[in-house]
Amino acid sequence: MTAQAKATPHVYSFKDGNGKNKKLLGGKGANLCEMTQIGINVPPGFVITTEACLDYLDTKNQDLPLELMNHVREQISRLERDTNKGFGDADNMLLLSVRSGSALSMPGMMDTILNLGLNSATLPGLIKQTGNERFAWDAYRRFIQLFGKVALGISDEKFDRPFDAIKKREGITIDTDLSADHFREISDVFLDVVHDETGKPFPEDVYEQLQLSIKAVFSSWLGKRAIDYRREFKITADMANGTAVNIQTMVFGNMGNDCATGVGFTRNPGTGENVMFGEFLINAQGEDVVAGIRTPKPVHELASDMPQMHVELLALSDRLEKHYREVQDYEYTIENSVFYCLQTRDGKMNATARVRTSLEMANEGLITRDEALLRINPEELDQLLHPRLDPESKQMPIAHGLPASPGAASGKIVFDADRAELARDEGEKIILVREETKPEDIHGFFAAEGVLTSRGGKTSHAAVVARSMGKPCIAGAEGIDVDVEHHIARVGDVTLHEGDVITIDGANGNVYLGEIDMVPPKFSNELRTLLNWSDEIADLRIMCNADTLEAATQASDYGAMGIGLCRTERMFNAQDRLPLVIDMILAKDRAERKEALDRLRPIQRGDFKDLFKIMSPRPVTIRLLDPPIHEFLPSEKQLEQEIEHLRCLRDTVSGVNDLMNTMQLLKRHADTKAMPKPFAPGGRELVESAIAKKQQMLLKVRELFEVNPMLGHRGVRLGITYPEIYEMQVRAILEAAVECNREGFDVCPEIMVPQVCTGQELLWVRKIVDEVHADIEAEYNTHVTFKFGSMIEVVRACMRAGRLAEIAEFFSFGTNDLTQSTFSFSREDAENKFLPLYEKNHILQDNPFETLDVKGVGRLMETAIDWGRKTNPDLKVGICGEQGGHPASIRFCNHIGLTYVSCSAPRVPIARLAAAQAKLTEDDYVLE
Ligand code: PEP
Ligand code: MG
Repeated sequence: MTAQAKATPHVYSFKDGNGKNKKLLGGKGANLCEMTQIGINVPPGFVITTEACLDYLDTKNQDLPLELMNHVREQISRLERDTNKGFGDADNMLLLSVRSGSALSMPGMMDTILNLGLNSATLPGLIKQTGNERFAWDAYRRFIQLFGKVALGISDEKFDRPFDAIKKREGITIDTDLSADHFREISDVFLDVVHDETGKPFPEDVYEQLQLSIKAVFSSWLGKRAIDYRREFKITADMANGTAVNIQTMVFGNMGNDCATGVGFTRNPGTGENVMFGEFLINAQGEDVVAGIRTPKPVHELASDMPQMHVELLALSDRLEKHYREVQDYEYTIENSVFYCLQTRDGKMNATARVRTSLEMANEGLITRDEALLRINPEELDQLLHPRLDPESKQMPIAHGLPASPGAASGKIVFDADRAELARDEGEKIILVREETKPEDIHGFFAAEGVLTSRGGKTSHAAVVARSMGKPCIAGAEGIDVDVEHHIARVGDVTLHEGDVITIDGANGNVYLGEIDMVPPKFSNELRTLLNWSDEIADLRIMCNADTLEAATQASDYGAMGIGLCRTERMFNAQDRLPLVIDMILAKDRAERKEALDRLRPIQRGDFKDLFKIMSPRPVTIRLLDPPIHEFLPSEKQLEQEIEHLRCLRDTVSGVNDLMNTMQLLKRHADTKAMPKPFAPGGRELVESAIAKKQQMLLKVRELFEVNPMLGHRGVRLGITYPEIYEMQVRAILEAAVECNREGFDVCPEIMVPQVCTGQELLWVRKIVDEVHADIEAEYNTHVTFKFGSMIEVVRACMRAGRLAEIAEFFSFGTNDLTQSTFSFSREDAENKFLPLYEKNHILQDNPFETLDVKGVGRLMETAIDWGRKTNPDLKVGICGEQGGHPASIRFCNHIGLTYVSCSAPRVPIARLAAAQAKLTEDDYVLE
């Protein structure tokens, strides 16, 4: 290397730059350096660093430092020597491309200029050199427009209008029909546009062109598009700061039939299959492939069109993948039968392809198993676990709501849960459509393929329940006016009736009329193998939150290692239990309550047996009743309305009976058979008793009213005031365990107490449990084992963890409630009112109800684990809040030494992979 060509801090030749330093050189620049240095034929060039960009953006007058331009000039001289061409030399001109490129790929967000170096003096040289006048004028008009737009800030429209006018005048619709003369005329018009818009002639000096272009590319880092993109994809300055500028010799794929341009992948990015994938065009420029002006050919046709070039392409593809040990996405140009690679980057692909390539590349020995696991974003697996709409479908949506639970479903509209159940029993597939849903709609959820609501957010009842069941849901589709009473819904001019078929896509919130073809989820063998590798590596165990046989079966198929949270209240809401639960709530005294609970117990026992069997021999953690009991009753308003209706009905019944009696008296001898039958004599009493029951409920609802139910009479507080409820549940759990044992199933029940604040509360419940346990062992004359634990979802419980761990064998962090109590935020209000603003303005980085707040809630958890394990070193600790299925939270849970995370069934595969990644990256974990 000569002293002159020595690399400078802000400018690096492709021959010198460090291909590993993407932060400094940007992804594109670093790869161009690396490819050059390993001998791939890359058009020569150099990179101006991201640091130079930041320095430039910092200067007040926004001038490029003289020193930088001097280094650029040195590099240009080097290029001139390497290419035997001259920058601005009319007879043998060097033309350049000027491209942006930051550390992380931000496709299309920043600017690029091609054909730089053309002017009125060099253009005739290009015509002479190529012998292709049309090509040269085309290149010139492209350059004037791109330069005008990017460097001089002239809108595309100013160029497009005269361009289209000329095409129209000539009766030409496609650009390939334009002649050299047309392009010359267009170039002249474009030069006038520049003059008119800027008040100055188009810059003829090639160094002025270059300087303005570098400035423009630097400035595009702060363009609105780029800023929005970084915000949307959460790209921080730490990940990418400033853009590099790549200045590269132009090569042309459009100089004749021995020229071509193409893009390709080393493997198929749609399926992952290990075959080269891509398209090319003969005699065309790169942008023609992308812009779809001509239809490109599949890459295998290059073998017959240009056999030698195909061989070179195969060699490039193989070389790139072996070198980068990753699927590559590259661009190439063939200029007069010389093959050039213009850029390469890691290939983006769908989840199917990512999983398959991970497995195959590991099996081929190209990457290690650890690398295979680390190259998949766990969240991507979600794509594989829900049926998806056929991506080929062209149908337009009729409405749009919030994508509340992923997956897609088609079915007949039904407007209430009872009718949903009936329709399902008749074999129909249905979509439950409501304004919003309530706990009493639970059987409608079971029956439905998916749920659509016109109100509520991503955390509305519909959204939370659907997610926990892994069913698609769209919430808050405000464009739909749901009229449950008349069984219709209106969307603009369209009226939907019960029985009409719709399709919902919970991944993007779109609602479609009619049925759209689905692509089923595929839990492929490749995924199964990768997740088995994950389990071998991970320390964390992955449990599921499941309270139905359906969810538990799905979780088990997805590899759950047990149930970490069974919410028993969901079982109370089912159709056949709710009346019993209501009887229990309305009971006058303990004896009456016990009697209702006794009828509920066998049903609960049956539920627990199902879960124990499906999970045998894995643990099943059952949480004793948590919500305030008034949640099982209708609302006060609803009851008042129903009583009013019943009273009207009673009056109607009396009136009709009076009328009939009168008629009979008056027409004693007439034929009374012809008259309508009066209501049955008992009709009135029936209505009276219904009114009495509803009034009793209303009184109870008023008696149970709480100002703030979530902080009120719930969880263990409920278990202490109504011990017979917990007694019944514990009995059902232990009876189920005994019966399963007898049927040959090895079971591992865990009893968990919600909302605990003090050791005394836990001791109180423990006493109930021990008494019931002793009874059962005596009654069945057998031994039954179980674990006893506490949820930790109250700040005081964290502070008393040492004491609680003396009584509990396990803790499970209920981070839904713990987050609410740590922030003093009500989740619903926070998410609907101010959290989006907090996130947008970075007051909070993430929604703490989705991603664990490691700085606050996480600290409490760490302290609680520390203190808990001091008094009970064997303490098992897990998390069962919604954050438990989130990869970032899982990483933190691994870091602080949790035993397990528990999440909804569809997130089990995601959590398994995330747990392995957490272990593999633990050494790099930095806790602020
Ligand atoms: C929790 O609080 O995190 C929890 C799992 O309980 P729930 O969501 O049922 O309140
Ligand atoms: Mg809770």
